[in-house]
Amino acid sequence: MSDIFEFNGAEGTGWSQPEPIMEGAAETVPESLARARLPQWPRASEPELVRHYTWLSQRNFGIDTGFYPLGSCTMKHNPRINERIVQLPGIDRIHPLQPEHQIQGLLSIFFEMQEMLEICSGMDQVTLQPVAGAQGEFAAIRCIQEYHRENGESHRDKVIVPDSAHGTNPASAAMCGYEIIEIPSGVDGRLDLDALTAAVGEDTAAMMITNPSTLGIFEPDIARAAEIVHEVGGQMYYDGANFNAILGKTDPGRMGFDAVHYNLHKTFSQPHGGGGPGSGPIGVKSHLADFLPAPLADREQADDDGATGDGYRYFWRTPEKSIGKVQQWHGNAGAVVRAWAFYRRYGRELELMSEHAVLNANYLRHRILNPDPESRNLHDIHAMPVDGAPAEVVKHEFTLSMSPLKDSTGVTGKDVAKRLLDYGYMSPTLYFPMIVPECLMIEPTETESREVLDKFANDFLDILAEDPQIVSTAPHNTDVRRVDEVQAARNLVLRHPGRD
Ligand SMILES: *Cc1c(COP(=O)(O)O)cnc(C)c1O
Repeated sequence: MSDIFEFNGAEGTGWSQPEPIMEGAAETVPESLARARLPQWPRASEPELVRHYTWLSQRNFGIDTGFYPLGSCTMKHNPRINERIVQLPGIDRIHPLQPEHQIQGLLSIFFEMQEMLEICSGMDQVTLQPVAGAQGEFAAIRCIQEYHRENGESHRDKVIVPDSAHGTNPASAAMCGYEIIEIPSGVDGRLDLDALTAAVGEDTAAMMITNPSTLGIFEPDIARAAEIVHEVGGQMYYDGANFNAILGKTDPGRMGFDAVHYNLHKTFSQPHGGGGPGSGPIGVKSHLADFLPAPLADREQADDDGATGDGYRYFWRTPEKSIGKVQQWHGNAGAVVRAWAFYRRYGRELELMSEHAVLNANYLRHRILNPDPESRNLHDIHAMPVDGAPAEVVKHEFTLSMSPLKDSTGVTGKDVAKRLLDYGYMSPTLYFPMIVPECLMIEPTETESREVLDKFANDFLDILAEDPQIVSTAPHNTDVRRVDEVQAARNLVLRHPGRD
């Protein structure tokens, strides 16, 4: 199959582009914006069109194609039942402006999702409005900002983040106007309480942290960290991107947090390749709840005289205090419904998901770090990755440093990641977190079987022992080979060659 734009032969009707409106268009469209000539739509019959899109889909790597060690941050298996549910007419075919009594089903899903998220995080009120973790961070930090303002403490102008934090944490706080104080991790990759104590003060607005950290390490001192921040009047913000490591086991409320965001597209599921669509609800303790973006979903009980009915409704808590909307309507309703369908399938056994995610990560890490010495040659052992996370047990993800491999052979973490594509795997997260040199971050997720993990471990170790020349020029088997990244970043061509 060649490029469809060069495909102009068929007399087919496989496309349904509207006829361009030409007559009178000049009166409504300013000349500077009008096309000089009609677009050159390809002409393709239905089978040709189907072939085109199938061909396109196969040029890409997807979780439906093979193992995806990039983990929940990027893509987890999306149970197909979710798609069936989200396409039910009562969910798919409704308009946000419909009266409440016509959309009770969807409102009940929103309400249940809020409640479920409140329970599993130990928070008092959830809003589903933000559509990404990053937007949730921004909204929740704004709530914290309003809380300080109401208490006459607007002088608090600093937000503390550990150096292992995701880049969105400092970015969100900076967007709210805060100054960022970065504190270094201890030598064991954990939070350094002395550094935290030295950093907090009268000017601390909040601390933002994810637990387990991006190194996959659970912070055992988190409750003490919360005390240190609270003692000076600061608020604790929990970045919930790693929630699938702890669901049903512990919760940020118990750890001492005041506000959290959830990444429904990571912890639960939602096809979100290419940067969206996602869902980043936030949950807060009651002292912050008045500031949340609204509407929320609420349940109304029938009163004694029957003047109000039993049912679900929109709820604006305290509009005068709310930070206002961060998104249209109720955020990404479809993503919320998929996450709801996902958790309803687990029900009370949701913690099984976290157990399997953690077990899979530990199993794979053990397999990679402890290769069978009998079956491995010396070079192999020499090229062994170093664990970036010197904890005995990791949570749902782990990091490996390819530094020793680079020192002995010149092969970098990026080369290994590209070579994995040749073996039919997606590459792991690369060069993040930045505190681990030549970092690969691997998150197998809960759905992979032992067979898949064993095969991946063997293939991974094989790559370390391969001819460095082969690895450093990979990928060799993919449709698109190694691209010139500098050119791609500096000189991005988005137009199809030959198109205007
Ligand atoms: C993904 C991620 C975020 C940002 O969430 P988005 O939904 O991508 O905006 C924040 N923190 C951590 C640790 C993450 O992994």
